[in-house]
Amino acid sequence: MSAANLSVKGGAPALRRTKIVATLGPATSSPESIAAIIRAGVDVARLNFSHGSAEQHRNNAEAVRAAAREQGRFVAILADLQGPKLRIARFIDGRITLQSGQQFTLDAAMDKECGTAERVGIDYEQLIDDVSAGDILVLDDGRIELEIERIEDRAIVCKVLIGGPLSSNKGLNKRGGGLSAPALTEKDKADIKTAARIGADYVAVSFVRTAEDMHTARALLKECGSNAGLVAKIERAELVHDEAALDAVIEASEVVMVARGDLAVEIGDAELVGVQKHIIARARTLNRIVITATQMMESMIHNPMPTRAEVSDVANAVLDYTDAVMLSAETAVGEYPVQTIEAMARICIGAEKHPSTQTSKHRIHESMARVDESIALSAMYAANHLKQITAVICMTETGATPLMMSRIKSSLPIFALSRRHDTQHKVALYRGVQTVPFDSEEMVNERINAAAVEELVSRKVVEDGDLVIITKGDYANAQGGTNTLKIVSVGDSIR
Ligand code: PGA
Ligand code: MN
Repeated sequence: MSAANLSVKGGAPALRRTKIVATLGPATSSPESIAAIIRAGVDVARLNFSHGSAEQHRNNAEAVRAAAREQGRFVAILADLQGPKLRIARFIDGRITLQSGQQFTLDAAMDKECGTAERVGIDYEQLIDDVSAGDILVLDDGRIELEIERIEDRAIVCKVLIGGPLSSNKGLNKRGGGLSAPALTEKDKADIKTAARIGADYVAVSFVRTAEDMHTARALLKECGSNAGLVAKIERAELVHDEAALDAVIEASEVVMVARGDLAVEIGDAELVGVQKHIIARARTLNRIVITATQMMESMIHNPMPTRAEVSDVANAVLDYTDAVMLSAETAVGEYPVQTIEAMARICIGAEKHPSTQTSKHRIHESMARVDESIALSAMYAANHLKQITAVICMTETGATPLMMSRIKSSLPIFALSRRHDTQHKVALYRGVQTVPFDSEEMVNERINAAAVEELVSRKVVEDGDLVIITKGDYANAQGGTNTLKIVSVGDSIR
């Protein structure tokens, strides 16, 4: 990692804690544009399997790895599976306009290429069995609303409540949720193999219904030899309305995504912000990572500056202590991908100055079950309360200790020192965690702490006189063994 990315001292740019996930697409698929968005601050590159071929995703992943290596950065790759996203079929002319009040029919029996302003095909015929008269169907991310009048054989006859232009293949949701499609389609199962082959660090499952969906995805990944972290996209109404099921999904995953695009359409926009705050808090309490996604900087698809509302949206997610904020169309097809990331990074750093994100009551009244957990939490308690501490150094094998540390609100950087590449990529998504390659395997035990501090001094992130916290296991390079916490003064002789 270059010093510019890791500098906290002496007028250098502030270290951003909140991570940025950016979706790759036509606007960001050349090696040059990928290098440019990584330089602007992308921590995780998202490959959207709703679009593009396996070949394109593989090329993009290679370009991400190459640019990151070139810049001395660790950028994780997130493969996002399409899932059972329901879509209308196609219009003869590609596009129609619906008038409010008119009748419009979704017809499972008709030719899928022959849609008109009166009727169009659907790609998921089972929809007929999942809906009844009075239900509201929402098209194109909420731009069009239909009310079902009646079901006729293989057709759903609707009245248009909110009209407007509508083009082929647009998405379709049912307000209130309740569609029976399973989370993993045949395409998803094939894409899991591609994701494993690409070496994705994270794989996202769309329209998760139950923890079982996550177990199935994990088993399929394991079969392909992948140890990717799993992201559960929270975007079904029935899931957010069932506390126990939501907790079970969070616990079956490494990461959850507040997938606001589909979620808002299913639950309505009025409840969205409260639900977002709830999911972020639950994920953090349950020791999981959380990404806040969709339409965060939407106007920057066509404008070089965000709106005040977008600034406020990103900042509020940061204040809620999301691990990461995500960009979709803004970087996939937008006109200003680099400016969007720069603006997002700037807003994150600004919001992180707010005192509410720098102190923590996380689990202060709970008892703990594990030694490594009590070391992790004690380290952060000391870091937040002992004034001269400037950094936390965490020697880690799998990233478990920095994960627990980063659940605690703090303004201090957590440096995850690991010899493992997969761990360095995974922690790229953890709020407040900066990864530093560090291999102590060949060192005598007495040298490790001093070498770790020297590493940070050479990166100019700590200097003589600073106090730093070091956590590690007696047996370095072993999993789950963290059992020591030491506070040392930079410049002193350290053991
Ligand atoms: P999508 O997921 O972009 O794949 O639909 C995110 C969302 O629904 O917000
Ligand atoms: Mn979605």
